[in-house]
Amino acid sequence: MKRKLIAGNWKMNGSLAANQALLQAITVGLGAPAACQVAVCVPAAYLAQIQLLLKDSAIDLGAQDVSTHQAGAFTGETSSAMLKEFGVRYCLVGHSERRQYHAETDAVVAFKAQRALADGITPIVCVGETLAEREAGRTEEVVKRQLAAVIHTNGHCISEIVVAYEPVWAIGTGKTASAEQAQAVHAVLRAQLKAATEHSDRIHILYGGSMNAANAAQLLAQPDIDGGLVGGASLKAADFLSIIAAAL
Ligand code: PEP
Repeated sequence: MKRKLIAGNWKMNGSLAANQALLQAITVGLGAPAACQVAVCVPAAYLAQIQLLLKDSAIDLGAQDVSTHQAGAFTGETSSAMLKEFGVRYCLVGHSERRQYHAETDAVVAFKAQRALADGITPIVCVGETLAEREAGRTEEVVKRQLAAVIHTNGHCISEIVVAYEPVWAIGTGKTASAEQAQAVHAVLRAQLKAATEHSDRIHILYGGSMNAANAAQLLAQPDIDGGLVGGASLKAADFLSIIAAAL
């Protein structure tokens, strides 16, 4: 049986001093190897620092974005090969903040996943509906469309991805999908993955959206919730450790 995966998304937060203090508190708090897999997705500027800080720990390093291009005149972008040089194991693709503020389309997200996979990095593909889409009864249609683009572009290696269901209305708002609401969408995504690959059981489907120490256990107890993508609460060692402890 696969272990659950708890991944922190630091977003654009941190400093050299704060990163060191946070990771020290997390690694000391973890003590013995955790029952689940743990990763932190950090700003690109800090990859070198965090790679060194995580050297002797069981925590994996993640990035928050990757270019669709391999190299060249793409100012400000970071290639998957560059991420790989820093020991990056995971890379978020299609986070709703990238879709919203950087106009990333389903096709762009699918290519980003492809670039990551080509360099041996596991893309954490984020999907999720806005509040308006949920209220219009379009949740299933939206998440299936977003995931279908990634499946279409990455068919033969689709079992190598991680999926994160992140309802946009729950990200950073303190509003969490109920365990039942989340499980219902995860079951839809699981069925879609099952139709795409005979190895769908390998794929982690994470829930993200205001997961915290108080609600993690109930969310993580759902049959199709294989872990969490944690934003705000991953910046506080005690909260992140509580979520990890809930992921048995
Ligand atoms: C996220 O940014 O992926 C996220 C889930 O954020 P938060 O936990 O703060 O809602």
